Amino acid sequence: MKKIVIRAGKERSLQRRHPWVFEGSVQRGSADSGETVRVESAEGQFLCWGAYSPQSIFRVRAWSFDEAQRIDAGFFAQRIEAALAVRARLPIASDGLRLIHAEADGLPGLIVDRYADTLVAQFLSAGAERWKSVIADLLLAATGLSKLYERSDAQVRELEGLAKQAGWLRGEGPTELTINEHQWQLTLDVAEGHKTGYYLDQRDNRKKFADAVRQFGCKSVLNCFSYTGGFSVAALAGGATEVISIDSSGPALARASAHVALNGFSPASHGAQDADVNASLRQFLKEGRRFDAIVLDPPKFAPTAAHAERAARAYKDINRLALMLLSKGGLLFTFSCSGGIGPELFHKIVAGAGLDALVDGFIIDRVGAAPDHPQTICFPEGEYLKGLLILTR
Ligand code: SAH
Repeated sequence: MKKIVIRAGKERSLQRRHPWVFEGSVQRGSADSGETVRVESAEGQFLCWGAYSPQSIFRVRAWSFDEAQRIDAGFFAQRIEAALAVRARLPIASDGLRLIHAEADGLPGLIVDRYADTLVAQFLSAGAERWKSVIADLLLAATGLSKLYERSDAQVRELEGLAKQAGWLRGEGPTELTINEHQWQLTLDVAEGHKTGYYLDQRDNRKKFADAVRQFGCKSVLNCFSYTGGFSVAALAGGATEVISIDSSGPALARASAHVALNGFSPASHGAQDADVNASLRQFLKEGRRFDAIVLDPPKFAPTAAHAERAARAYKDINRLALMLLSKGGLLFTFSCSGGIGPELFHKIVAGAGLDALVDGFIIDRVGAAPDHPQTICFPEGEYLKGLLILTR
């Protein structure tokens, strides 16, 4: 077993069970891509077993902090079983759910989503890639399913020195699927959709939105960054009569319109705009349009804290415009999925937007990702999605 020795003083985070070893923390040692290594402190004390990644700034990602643990098929079987066992106890109102959420489930670099009878996996680190075949077989055995589609085509693969890969890894079938989320039917294409096909992390927030739209009697709703219209269907289910979805992806919008019909709502109640949200918000203001509720669920503006400042300006701008577009007593459901922007900073940004827009409001809910995208105590980086539900006054 190859040994990686950590610089003196840099062993603290591993001792606190944080799973990353940064490039600059390695004193000596190397291994092949994805190879299991033993990580030790400068004094020779065992720290963890991990996967080596020669090109990544995350030079080692920990598999286990238990010296007696062997990193073999049995180890992966245990971790997968544990992840599934937790999901079975969580309140998940859908047959679309995240089964493995990388670090939070002790499997750095591995994302596995289940959509009805089909699994979709992303192998995003050298270590996950190395164990791909073993993991694929174990996933099928643990779930009793036979179809696994691979979507290892995320940009982060490049940082690991891995080529993008997508296609059926086990079994075969349609890539076009339907899931039942709350009382809604939603479709996705695991080959063509964003990420693994759908944004499962917003599941419970879509339900919260439907409830709030009903509670506050919102009729006109603007869903910005709508993707396939999950929040639009929720708005209609909550009693909205006029919903506009805006996204820059034509195929996503076509699916949003299809979702309206699929769930029994009148096509006349929904409009799809293939446009840049920033431009649309400004245009609506110019036209004097007002909405009873607005959703802002933009893509990650700040992938890391280094981008936080520029991202903060972008978040503030759309929030300011949205607050100005709300009718009195309207609802804003605003999100950031940037790991680099913490909940406090996000609140500050929205506060700044409110000041500029001359709009104040009550925060009636603070939300995060659905519980199948868990956060763990030892890995604060796992917190990424945060949202504020605001009732303006
Ligand atoms: N709310 C969605 C998920 C949104 S993901 C859901 O519940 O499923 C972010 C979306 O923003 C993506 O669909 C992407 O196509 C879109 N997008 C990114 N930049 C945009 C822009 N400038 N204007 C409009 N849409 C944009």
